[in-house]
Amino acid sequence: MLTAILAITLLALILGLVLGFAAIRFKVEGDPIADQIDKILPQTQCGQCSFAGCRPYAEAIAAGEVDINRCPPGGEATIHALADLLEVEFKPLDEECGVEKPKMLAVIDEDRCIGCTLCIQACPVDAILGAAKHMHTVIASECTGCELCLPPCPVDCIDMVETKPKPNTWRWPDPAHIDLKLGDQP
Ligand code: SF4
Ligand code: SF4
Ligand code: SF4
Repeated sequence: MLTAILAITLLALILGLVLGFAAIRFKVEGDPIADQIDKILPQTQCGQCSFAGCRPYAEAIAAGEVDINRCPPGGEATIHALADLLEVEFKPLDEECGVEKPKMLAVIDEDRCIGCTLCIQACPVDAILGAAKHMHTVIASECTGCELCLPPCPVDCIDMVETKPKPNTWRWPDPAHIDLKLGDQP
């Protein structure tokens, strides 16, 4: 009996060592270029680039699968930053993706809100607070202005209002202060 316990313990120890070694030996590193591209993108998560968010677009750029000029919220400043980072030519914004606009913020008319929660489900950054059948409100500091909450609202009670990006806290729309070069650590 004691021998069996010792054998099982030894086996478990050896297995643990093998797994630990494999985890270190075959560790999959992130893509540092995609990380740097992602840091330049405005994180609006609006999908206008035709990707499901900024990160997938960053990965596609890093893989050379797509142009650098597909992000309307980032606009020209973002394209310049990407061109500098990747050492490629600047290209004007692809207007098939949309046009560059001032920074916008969603505001809910709380008197008209019926509390259906559809906007909460649509918001990619959890910027809307509310519960079923209660009025909802937008956390201004979290809202990226992506407009994804507008189409689902059945009573059309969400307006987009122009706002100014907060200095030093939000990259949108001018990421020019980000000084990233190829080879930098993310
Ligand atoms: S268009 Fe720009 S902000 Fe919108 S998801 Fe794509 S990369 Fe992000
Ligand atoms: S509140 Fe609306 S506009 Fe603001 S981030 Fe959420 S979905 Fe986008
Ligand atoms: S979708 Fe419109 S009505 Fe529904 S909770 Fe959001 S703001 Fe209110």
